[in-house]
Amino acid sequence: VIQINDVGKSFGKTEVLHDVSFQIKKGEIVGLIGPSGSGKTTLVKAIIGMEKVDSGNVSVFDKGMPNREILSRIGYMAQSDALYLELSAEQQMMFFAKLYKVPKNERKERILAAMKLVDLEKEMKKRVMNYSGGMKRRLSLAMALLQNPDLLVLDEPTVGIDPRLRKEIWGELTSLKEQGKSILVTTHVMDEAERCDRLVLLLDGTVLASGSPSELKERFQTDSIEAIFLQKK
Ligand code: ATP
Repeated sequence: VIQINDVGKSFGKTEVLHDVSFQIKKGEIVGLIGPSGSGKTTLVKAIIGMEKVDSGNVSVFDKGMPNREILSRIGYMAQSDALYLELSAEQQMMFFAKLYKVPKNERKERILAAMKLVDLEKEMKKRVMNYSGGMKRRLSLAMALLQNPDLLVLDEPTVGIDPRLRKEIWGELTSLKEQGKSILVTTHVMDEAERCDRLVLLLDGTVLASGSPSELKERFQTDSIEAIFLQKK
C-alpha cells in the first residue's frame, strides 16, 4: 500500500530524513516510533503529499493512480487538531462529509457510526470550542474515518486520551486492520507500539531498525522498545 524508497529531505541546511525506506502492506498496522524531532511528522506529510521529498520516492496505492483518488482513500489525522471551533461536532462532520463527497443518503449514518467509534455520539450537538483536548482528538479521529479510507495515517492519535478510551480506540484500529485496512501510526506511547504488527524506529531522520515488536526486542536483547533508543544514545 505504501512503498518508501531512500527518501531524503532537508529544510535549508538541516537534513531531517536520510535514506528512509520501508513499506506498509494491506491489512497491517505499522508504528512509526522515534524521539521528538526524529522526522516522523515530516515523513507522514510526505506520504500524504503535503511535503515534497528531495530524493528517493514515496508511492501510495498503485502506480499511476491519480492524486485525487489517492487522497480520497487516505484518512489522515494531523498531529494538531484542525477543527472549526464555532461549529458543533455534527455540523463539522457534515461539512467534511460533503467535502469528501460522501453520498447524501449515507452522510448521517456514516457520521453517527464514526462518532460512536470514538464515543462521542452523545456530544455531537456541542460546539467544538467546548470540547476537551481529548474530545477534540477523538473528533479528529472520527473525521479521518468518515470517508471509510483504505489507508489511515494517524499522527499521535491518542495524545490527551485517557487509558480506557485509548484501549477502545486500539481495539477499533485492530478491527479495521482485520477488515483489510492499512494503518500507519506515530506514537510515543510504548504500550501502543507493542500493539503494532511492525515498527519502524526512526532516529535523527534515519531508520534505526524495523520489524515486529518481538523481533526487535529479540534482536536488541531487551524487553522494551524504549530501551533500544536508550542503547543508541
Ligand atoms: P515530534 O514527535 O516532536 O512531533 P517528529 O519526529 O514528528 O517530532 P518532525 O516534526 O518531523 O519530527 O521534525 C523533524 C525536524 O524537522 C525537526 O528538527 C524540525 O524542527 C524540523 N522541521 C520540521 N518541519 C520544518 C519546516 N517546515 N521547516 C524547517 N524545519 C522543519
